[in-house]
Amino acid sequence: MVIGGCPAGYTAAMYLARAALKPLVFAGEKAGGQLMLTTEVENYPGFAEGIMGPKLMEEMKKQAEKFGAEILDKNVSKVEMYGEVKKVWVGEEVFEAETVVIATGAESKMLGIGEEKCLGRGVSTCAVCDAAFFKDKKVFVIGGGDAAMEDVLALTKFASEVGVIHRRDSLRASKIMQERVLGNDKVKMWWESVVAGVKGEGVLKEIVIKNVKSGEEKKVEADGLFLAIGHIPETKLFEGQLALDEKGFVKVKMYEEGIKIEGYPTMTSIEGVFGAGDVVDFRYKQAVTAAGMGCQAALDVERYLSR
Ligand code: NAP
Repeated sequence: MVIGGCPAGYTAAMYLARAALKPLVFAGEKAGGQLMLTTEVENYPGFAEGIMGPKLMEEMKKQAEKFGAEILDKNVSKVEMYGEVKKVWVGEEVFEAETVVIATGAESKMLGIGEEKCLGRGVSTCAVCDAAFFKDKKVFVIGGGDAAMEDVLALTKFASEVGVIHRRDSLRASKIMQERVLGNDKVKMWWESVVAGVKGEGVLKEIVIKNVKSGEEKKVEADGLFLAIGHIPETKLFEGQLALDEKGFVKVKMYEEGIKIEGYPTMTSIEGVFGAGDVVDFRYKQAVTAAGMGCQAALDVERYLSR
């Protein structure tokens, strides 16, 4: 069984189906994951002209089905991962299998101030994906962690000015990333500040920056607003069963022990349960890395079952 209809889940399903292992995929009501909220994807290999996020997911789903994967657009309500037979509930119905691949993904944290309405039209959660659309534009990044600093550096290659809005007076990011950002001429720091409002009719035009100390608010023109305030992994179902890290991401062997010839790098803390994609990977968070990890998990499952 595969839980999650996303690049990792569909890729795992395609490999498992082609290995004649008859995967059943619980794609969930949010099937497609974060790519359903994306417009053009320009960095997925094989699509030189780019492809729309939802279209890419539709194609991945079709490809898995073509080889016999059964895909249910239903939400899993409960799981029991212990024991040789793993159990997954959808309401009253229970499904069983010897192995499970968890690919439930993660969601970008949002501010909840109405910025969602400009998502893909000025507001973005992925600078690596979207920086090139902001040539000579004025953009802002929210956050003070490593991801935010990486976003800032990616954006300085294209944008004319990159404002960094951080709620405290010091950054959380590693020293080296801080130095690179603070030493860049295109960067303007907005310390102890938050975004209090987002304006624009469909396309982002302006943001309101509020100083948390003085309470002063300032309206500034903005072509782009990048959120880098962390991710929330979709792991509620597995709490108390699988080992999760302090932020709730699923722990797999390769992050603990590295990749070895022996063993199963994508296996979680429970035998026969594997993890792939953004629910594991807090670092790269790309469609292509998630798909790659889905493939790794499927190959681990195949080897585990044949042994
Ligand atoms: P993170 O380290 O948790 O940083 C999140 C940042 O967003 C923090 O600065 C936090 O502020 C801020 N924030 C959180 N919620 C906010 C809100 N509601 N409003 C305003 N600001 C908010 O997350 P991350 O940067 O995504 O990194 C995740 C993990 O991946 C980290 O362990 C990181 O080191 C790692 N990573 C490493 C690299 C690298 O090595 N190059 C690159 C990317 C990620 P506070 O600081 O005030 O809490």
